[in-house]
Amino acid sequence: MDRDTPIMELKGVGEKTGKLFGKLDIRTVGELLMAYPRDYEVFGEPVKISRAVSGELCAVRAAVSGIPNERRIRNLSILNVLIADDTGRLQLTFYNMPFLKKTLRQGGFYIFRGLLRPKGTVMTMEQPKIFAPEEYDRLTNRLVPRYALTKGLTNQAMQKYVRQALTFCEFEPECYPPSLLEENQLISYREAVETVHFPQTREALIKARRRLVFDEFFSFLFLMRRSQKLDRQLENGHRMLETADTARFLEQLPFPLTKAQEKVWQEIREDLGGENCMNRLVQGDVGSGKTIVAVLALLMTAANGYQGALMAPTEVLAMQHFETIQGYVKKYGLIFRPVLLVGSMTAREKREVYGAIADGQANLIIGTHALIQEKVQYRSLGLVVTDEQHRFGVRQRELLAQKGENPHILVMSATPIPRTLAIILYGDLHLSVIDELPADRLPIKNCVVNISYRPTAYRFIAGQVAQGRQVYVICPQVEGDDAEGGLPLENVADYAEKLRAALPASVQVACLHGRMRPGDKSRVMNQFADHSIDVLVSTTVIEVGINVPNATVMMVENAERFGLAQLHQLRGRVGRGEHQSYCIFVSADEKPESMERLEILNKSNDGFHIASEDLKLRGPGELFGIRQSGEFSFRVGDIYADAGLLKQASEAVDRLLAEDPELQRPEHGRLRDYLEKAAQRSVDFRSI
Ligand code: ADP
Ligand code: MG
Repeated sequence: MDRDTPIMELKGVGEKTGKLFGKLDIRTVGELLMAYPRDYEVFGEPVKISRAVSGELCAVRAAVSGIPNERRIRNLSILNVLIADDTGRLQLTFYNMPFLKKTLRQGGFYIFRGLLRPKGTVMTMEQPKIFAPEEYDRLTNRLVPRYALTKGLTNQAMQKYVRQALTFCEFEPECYPPSLLEENQLISYREAVETVHFPQTREALIKARRRLVFDEFFSFLFLMRRSQKLDRQLENGHRMLETADTARFLEQLPFPLTKAQEKVWQEIREDLGGENCMNRLVQGDVGSGKTIVAVLALLMTAANGYQGALMAPTEVLAMQHFETIQGYVKKYGLIFRPVLLVGSMTAREKREVYGAIADGQANLIIGTHALIQEKVQYRSLGLVVTDEQHRFGVRQRELLAQKGENPHILVMSATPIPRTLAIILYGDLHLSVIDELPADRLPIKNCVVNISYRPTAYRFIAGQVAQGRQVYVICPQVEGDDAEGGLPLENVADYAEKLRAALPASVQVACLHGRMRPGDKSRVMNQFADHSIDVLVSTTVIEVGINVPNATVMMVENAERFGLAQLHQLRGRVGRGEHQSYCIFVSADEKPESMERLEILNKSNDGFHIASEDLKLRGPGELFGIRQSGEFSFRVGDIYADAGLLKQASEAVDRLLAEDPELQRPEHGRLRDYLEKAAQRSVDFRSI
């Protein structure tokens, strides 16, 4: 058995389980091993009842002190059990588990683990897990992996299959030469994978994670540096002059550029007309107005007789950009022809667009990764803009650049990174920053609340909709609930139903999530953009770039589950127009730490400050759970948390490129194979 062995060959995995794995994008043993735990459950020492804290998940060691009492409400059985230790009493409530009446003997000692909540005047624990004391002893202080699951596949089953895979899978030999492992103090790949799934200690887990993060950074940086070596200091083969088109466009715009936009546009103009090919990153927080700057660069390109391409990470965003640009062309009577190219178009539609691109009729070309497919032949590609670019692999950028004769490259990004990191991640890209929001913006009003606030929030939402505004509601899950003993997670499907019931019947509520077909996704998005939908209940698919200025409320359920930087991106979907906007972060847990973490968002609007504060507050078991930035495509690594390791990987890459750039030495053979595969993988576009 090796990494490419189909998952169905594991013992116990039949057709049904195979399908469930398919839903998680796991088809081979290797993919199963790469499905790292989402986080780890830490079974803390049991506490005395008097020390147990409301709102927290805790374990108490106590005796059953009364006879279990069962009530029935229609089909629901409610079992109340009283427990006690020498410091206090606690009520347990179980739903539809009448058999526990017999199991829980009066006077018997157990460990009960669950969330403590006040209910009226008594403290209760709902649906706690029950352990025999010796069973709990074995678990205490262990890190038990928790995987991303799908309905029908339990966490225990996942653990079982991963163990089996680890036992029988033959790993490839270590890809790094021993000197590299030693210099960077890395453990072997095999040990890292084993430990990440079943860590003995937290220290071991940290070492394992470190190795996996190093791998990601190393291959990313290696591939990027190698491709940059090719186009460093390229001569500008598309020298452009400023024509009247851009100035006229700016005059017609209903708003003036901000000073920051003005400055960046100036830098871009100089690049386009300069000696060398442009290679520039424009960084600007959400809502700072990056699109218009990209549009100006595209117009200047088209006015000079070249084609300009704009590539977005999702179809939804590509279509939105296309509509914006087409709107400008119509409204301002521009003489250019925009076309859209995305994967979900029919073969005929695509052929037509390919034709227009090849003969040069289309000069503003907007799309997704479909823009870099082989069939697309450009006539004179002068500029490539990538929006929110790190969803693209390095290889994709390279492929697109190869389609033109070294087109100018402009990268737009909302991920705030300090200059030192930018230099490592983007190499000799020049950096422009839009560090100012348009003046007409009212600051967003934020609040962090618990679930008891929901009725108030729904009334508020109904009020905003009545005033003609629109609303986003974000849930962490698509359907079902994989919380497994943790806190309940809201899901898009059920939540939309709940909202329809809570809001007046005239309010149009719709769902959006990543498991929908691309065509359906963009249909819903377009309906939201043209206001046939009032309330959009969505997963984080809307996180990147979506611009609907009429939307004024962003409500995020289970906000405790998201990285703060991600919440900041979500918040950026509102406050994009003239109306006062609001953000409601709903936390399902009331731990002081969770609230404190979310309070950071309340106090600051500075993306980088938010991201770095978030890291300081992360607890154990959260090494993998929280994704910082939607933009960088690292699975495990985090450019903020792992900034030191990023630097180390960067130095290792530089040394290797200096010594043996083509990896021709025998000791680098395995590394060459590994990086080759990594390059292939980065072409696989993972659409959300
Ligand atoms: P982002 O930087 O997040 O990509 P967008 O480019 O989508 O932001 O711009 C957000 C909104 O701000 C858009 O509706 C855009 O038309 C508007 N906008 C851009 N520049 C200005 C400006 N200088 N003044 C007023 N509104 C602006
Ligand atoms: Mg944008």
